[in-house]
Amino acid sequence: MSTSPPSGTTSGTPSIAGLNLAQQEAVNYMHGPCLVLAGAGSGKTRVITHKIGRLIQAGLKPEQIAAITFTNKAAAEMRERAKSLIGKSARGVLICTFHALGVRMLRQDGGALGLKPQFSILDSDDVTSILKDAGGSTDAATARQWQWTISAWKNSGLNAAQAEAQAANDEERVLARIMARYEERLTAYQSVDFDDLIGLPLKLLKEHDEVRDKWQAALGHVLVDEYQDTNATQYEVLKLLVGERGRFTAVGDDDQSIYGWRGATLDNLKRLPVDYPELKVVKLEQNYRSTSAILRAANNVIGPNPKLYPKTLFSELGEGEPVRVIDCDGEEHEADRVVARIQSLRAGGELQAVGSQYKDWKDFSVLYRANHQAKVFEKAFRRAQIPYKVSGGQSFFDRAEIKDLCGWLRLLTNNDDDPAFMRAVTTPKRGIGHVTLQALGNFGSQYKLSLFESLFSNSLGAVLPAKAVGSLQEFGRYLNDLEHRAKHTLGAQDARVFLNDWLKDIDYEKHLYDAEDSEKVAAARWTNVMDFCDWMAQRCGGQIEDTSGATVEKERKTMLEVVQTIALLSTISEREGDQDVVTLSTLHAAKGLEWPHVMLVSCVEGLLPFKLGEDDAEASAESIALRLQEERRLMYVGITRAQRTLLVSWLRRRKKGREMIAGTPSRFIAEMGLDKTTVKEDPREKIRALRAEFAQRAADGLAAQALAEANAKSGL
Ligand code: ATP
Ligand code: MG
Repeated sequence: MSTSPPSGTTSGTPSIAGLNLAQQEAVNYMHGPCLVLAGAGSGKTRVITHKIGRLIQAGLKPEQIAAITFTNKAAAEMRERAKSLIGKSARGVLICTFHALGVRMLRQDGGALGLKPQFSILDSDDVTSILKDAGGSTDAATARQWQWTISAWKNSGLNAAQAEAQAANDEERVLARIMARYEERLTAYQSVDFDDLIGLPLKLLKEHDEVRDKWQAALGHVLVDEYQDTNATQYEVLKLLVGERGRFTAVGDDDQSIYGWRGATLDNLKRLPVDYPELKVVKLEQNYRSTSAILRAANNVIGPNPKLYPKTLFSELGEGEPVRVIDCDGEEHEADRVVARIQSLRAGGELQAVGSQYKDWKDFSVLYRANHQAKVFEKAFRRAQIPYKVSGGQSFFDRAEIKDLCGWLRLLTNNDDDPAFMRAVTTPKRGIGHVTLQALGNFGSQYKLSLFESLFSNSLGAVLPAKAVGSLQEFGRYLNDLEHRAKHTLGAQDARVFLNDWLKDIDYEKHLYDAEDSEKVAAARWTNVMDFCDWMAQRCGGQIEDTSGATVEKERKTMLEVVQTIALLSTISEREGDQDVVTLSTLHAAKGLEWPHVMLVSCVEGLLPFKLGEDDAEASAESIALRLQEERRLMYVGITRAQRTLLVSWLRRRKKGREMIAGTPSRFIAEMGLDKTTVKEDPREKIRALRAEFAQRAADGLAAQALAEANAKSGL
């Protein structure tokens, strides 16, 4: 039960610029649980950012506010927006994902669960290799399947013993035992996986009253964006964080729930009014993002889905351009038409009214269902010299060279991190072979020691020749030395020296060139390494350059402190700022974002909606229907990213494996209820595009020439 006044909190508070009445109501309601339930583009995220300001204005300290976003990128964006809205005090607000919040809780209070503060966070590849080891399999695909099931068990709150008790068959029983061995290894390595970042904080809050009391007292208000995509465990964490007072604000849209396949559940939305009978529900109806033509198409598509809560959305931005549908011969042709469309809109030959003020590259995005679809667009963009970025694909931190370096750095903060040890000791190779490592591993398991501890054990000489022990200990001493240096490296300048020395010590550049056949690839990898070092150094604070190039003074941190934070940052793009490039993105990664011009590509049956499993004999009619509903929500998310123009394309022929098959337009195209469907390729479009490309190249050439002349004149 809430102890807060039930209503009337809006009176006497200053009005807030840039919010409509319903938004203001949500922002001004601060003393109890609040749910903002509304369709796409209605200003839910804006409510969160403004409410942070309002809470501070009402007397909460920034540190008492936590705002939880769905991705690191969304957190970075919200931090920016909050900063421009409320200035410096926004810095103290905890704006992060559920996972990052989990890390913070575990670093502070994980001791109660036997975790050291420097525990390591395993990435998906680490988990696969530990599972291979725990289950005695060499097959990565099998291990990944185990990983998937174990993750699902963990997300529904089951430990290995409980999973075994409720196993439905022998296969599950065996897997539950593998899970037990996996968990033992994680404890031994002082490591946690991504699911633990939610599961362990929950355990902490549930079982340790003093920790729960501390967090409840520390947090005056918790705000959650994209609430429809939280899972059951995250909801439990939220409940325990806010306690009886229930001071939280959740915003969401059941029509945009697109992570059901990863355990997100709409039950969380249904349960809120039951668990919090005093819940204040605010509905927003005005969409500020899209034209009426786009919004109508979106509403039509989502229409056939069952409604959890009825919603209406209107736009006052005018009818705008009709939604266009185009058909293409195949993927390459589609990419060419998209290029032509971008160039034509930028040239302003059409759509004068709507297109004219949105002509930067960053005003365009191409959205697709699956990661691999980006490639053909990348190629076409390169050919046409269109700058772009791919989001939602392989992240910077997934690259092998960055993982190598992170392995080393992780080992510095947690010597017991065996997967990191294996990576570091073998990258670059230092004459310690797998027979030695296997013996070291066996020794460690026998005496319950980590690999690092084992190498300094007096009795290691009994199982390994002196030479091997010598090399291992030399490696160990080097690590100790490096750790000592990292602890005493403070600020960006020192950090650069530290990183440089370290890479030289281990001869990493040579390792990259030796490992790659192509020099070009090796050079690109080395550039990534430099990029990474630069980024790490910046994070160490001191005198650094901000995004505008100005020198600013930031709080200094030690290298070791910074290293502790890196495992969770899945993308370096946080610091990229607002680059002027076209975005290529999966639909999933586009959630919450918006662009003036959106191109929704390859809308064919089998891709969007994705395979629904009709050919799968085991799939029930109900599961197929549920999948279709989630795909429909994905289409809704895609359409509602568009502000001014929307192009939907489909393929008459498409690749399926090695074959070419006929493409059928997605059923969602018909569901959009457009007056006119397919727009044929206009020959003028091609000519215009060619002209635009030519003009662009000429302009680039002229600019380069002018620059060269200016440089020559200034003697550079
Ligand atoms: P999504 O469901 O896609 O996450 P959302 O509901 O979070 O969308 P926002 O991203 O907050 O919506 O807002 C959509 C757009 O409308 C943004 O450009 C935002 O700045 C703008 N907007 C929101 N509220 C208002 C308002 N009251 N007046 C003017 N513009 C607004
Ligand atoms: Mg939003």
